[in-house]
Amino acid sequence: MGRLDGDRAARRMRVERPPARATRYNRRSMAQTPWGDLPVNDAHVHFFSHNFYAGLARQKKVENAQALGPLLNWEIPEADPIKLAESWAGELDRNGVRRVCLIASAPADEESVAAAVSAYPDRFFGYFMLDPLQPDALDRVKAAASDPRLHGMCLFPAMHTYSIADRRLIPMLEIASDHRLAVFVHCGAISVGVRKKLGLPSQFDLRFSNPLDLHPVALHFPQIRFVIPHFGAGLFREALMLGDLCPNVYFDTSSSNRWMMYEDLDLRSVFRRAIDVLGIERLLFGTDSSFFPRGWNAAILKQQTTALYELGFDSEKASRILQSNLERLFEARVTNGTLKR
Ligand SMILES: [Zn+2]
Repeated sequence: MGRLDGDRAARRMRVERPPARATRYNRRSMAQTPWGDLPVNDAHVHFFSHNFYAGLARQKKVENAQALGPLLNWEIPEADPIKLAESWAGELDRNGVRRVCLIASAPADEESVAAAVSAYPDRFFGYFMLDPLQPDALDRVKAAASDPRLHGMCLFPAMHTYSIADRRLIPMLEIASDHRLAVFVHCGAISVGVRKKLGLPSQFDLRFSNPLDLHPVALHFPQIRFVIPHFGAGLFREALMLGDLCPNVYFDTSSSNRWMMYEDLDLRSVFRRAIDVLGIERLLFGTDSSFFPRGWNAAILKQQTTALYELGFDSEKASRILQSNLERLFEARVTNGTLKR
């Protein structure tokens, strides 16, 4: 894997950011669980920024982002992403959550998430969505790799219709590997609730959703930590095979995991199988929270901790899934030279 030209210069680059906000994370913050109060991190929260809604408004052919509010019955955030970051930080405080991965949920919206991470560097990790088929994709990855506010890159092959094993992705993955960006790869069933609610078509292609397609890629890039959300979202067996063969593959547990109905599974059996095959250290708790006024989806924490409790896991084991595994995911990223904050 070749080093990038100018790599060292990029490492030295410091990103200007405003001073951190007053609400630094409270080290005592804990969430309620069946074991009592425990620290909780969330590996999967969508940052539905003003830019995100503005893009949908253009597709829906309404005047502006705010015009979507009454159609969705959701709160549309102001243009300044710091305001939305404040709302999320408030939600985390209310629910006793420490840190969450914020996912920029439209391509080219990394600035919104980066601004949120600048404002609350000890509450948020930043993920950006990349469509690798766009002409500026490589430049975006280069810029993100040298920005300490961004920690992971999110790929949605079925949404943007490419194979994760497409050779055109290699230069982008080389940069992710060199800079220890986590790479999130959506596999399995995919639907975007907000598009459905607005009646917007989604020309997705599930043929690009198979976790097995990630197998040669995960082997080729052993330094990259790949995160598969929702236990593979319906392709659980394939995701387990991939995780068994590639120690750099992680699952996030997020969402209601509605896909379980395809296989007549319940959360307890899903956790049991995933822990048996991958081990407890490669599972990352997540909710898939996204919009306001709902905010942080505490019901998911309740469902998942109940399942783990019923399986007989103690608080130490549960805490790895709920908290420490996610922090370990970014250890290399945040301690890599000047990328360390
Ligand atoms: Zn999601």
